[in-house]
Amino acid sequence: MHEECGIFGIYDRENKNLNVAQLSYLSLYALQHRGQESAGIAVSDGKKILIYKDLGLVSEVFDEEKLSILQGNCAVGHVRYSAKGKDLWKSSQPLINEHRRKTFVLAHNGSLMNSTELKAKLTQETNLSRSTTNTEIMCSLIAERNEEDIEGAIKSVAAQLKGAFSLIIMTNEKLIGLRDHCGFRPLSLGKLKGSYLFASETSAFNLIGAEFIREVEPGEMIVIDKNGLKSFRILPAGKAAFCVFEFVYLARPDSDIYGENVAFSRQKMGWRLAQEHPVEADLVIPVPDSGRYAAIGYAYQSGIPYGEGLLRNHYIGRTFIQPMQSIREGLVKIKLSPIKKILKGQRVVLVDDSIVRGTTSKKLIRLLKEAGAREVHLRISSPPVMWPCFYGIDTPSKKDLWAANHSLEETRKWLGADSLGHISIEGLCSVFDKIPADNFCLACFDGKYPI
Ligand code: SF4
Repeated sequence: MHEECGIFGIYDRENKNLNVAQLSYLSLYALQHRGQESAGIAVSDGKKILIYKDLGLVSEVFDEEKLSILQGNCAVGHVRYSAKGKDLWKSSQPLINEHRRKTFVLAHNGSLMNSTELKAKLTQETNLSRSTTNTEIMCSLIAERNEEDIEGAIKSVAAQLKGAFSLIIMTNEKLIGLRDHCGFRPLSLGKLKGSYLFASETSAFNLIGAEFIREVEPGEMIVIDKNGLKSFRILPAGKAAFCVFEFVYLARPDSDIYGENVAFSRQKMGWRLAQEHPVEADLVIPVPDSGRYAAIGYAYQSGIPYGEGLLRNHYIGRTFIQPMQSIREGLVKIKLSPIKKILKGQRVVLVDDSIVRGTTSKKLIRLLKEAGAREVHLRISSPPVMWPCFYGIDTPSKKDLWAANHSLEETRKWLGADSLGHISIEGLCSVFDKIPADNFCLACFDGKYPI
């Protein structure tokens, strides 16, 4: 499962000479896990907006020279993950357009469910010239509105959107952040030397020394201009449906969301998993890096020693070529290598965050057994993923989700595991002290789609 975007925005409204392009660049590093296909930064100096964006990682797209051209006091940054086969460059963000002859840029994290219907609302001209992705449709809809100010246009468009959208919009005078009424995807508000910031995750604030203020609330629009900050409720308060998968896998461990630290939440998932699915074993190991905190929690609660029996290769990169079928087959081995000395003769508890198609887990279990593990007990810190996501997370269709089509025992046998246990939905929700269970979206586990 892949996150589809990370967004960032900053407005140096007191003219403290902050280098907003450089701060955006650094912040995008802290959001890189949310998208690796393209990166972009737009900067306004109050009169004009400049954008630089391209395919690649933040470190590949930007260098000192490009950043030095992006001068101004307000900026928006974006990193994007996208499924294959789309026009990748054209879809890279921020997107630019005009509302009543005033330029604006828009950065989006999420996914709309009614984009076909929305596209039909656009005039012929806009429809033909732009608007292939749902972000472009949203951008074109704002451009076509007649309201006096952009806030009014955004409010009208937001009311027509169905789905997940955390947005940052910048004009030459304003920086605006808003979230859909369920708040599927995260968006936080922060402060740095009197300047306000928005970011998908607080990991971006940590990196640049900014202070976290609060989450942008579901259905809220925050407008920052030279006079300060104003908050508007632009969508009726609905039932919050925050994506629980942000905690399971997607968000960076050092981020805090609604006062819950992601790494610590994952550790508590591991505690709970050990209570729900105990087993006699010699060693708890994670699937690095995603299963690490849950494995630490499992080891702590069960009293079974924690170890690292799989080594992850961090130097493969996005562009790894897989020329031969034999190499494609061995891709798991290239990414993760078993350490025989640690595994030999051991009864191992292998902890991972999820089973999606199941193929990686199957290969890993075989690798561990070939390396000498006597038993492999697989423990998963999320409930079985049975339903696809329509709210901004790239998931296979239901027919390709292993758990949607097989029983637990069929799965265990096919994987070659000696035992298999998933945390329950109740168990997962119980690890959060500050977020009530009914404020989460759990649709990929229970099929109850909030929209
Ligand atoms: S369906 Fe799953 S991945 Fe998608 S928003 Fe809901 S909890 Fe998150």
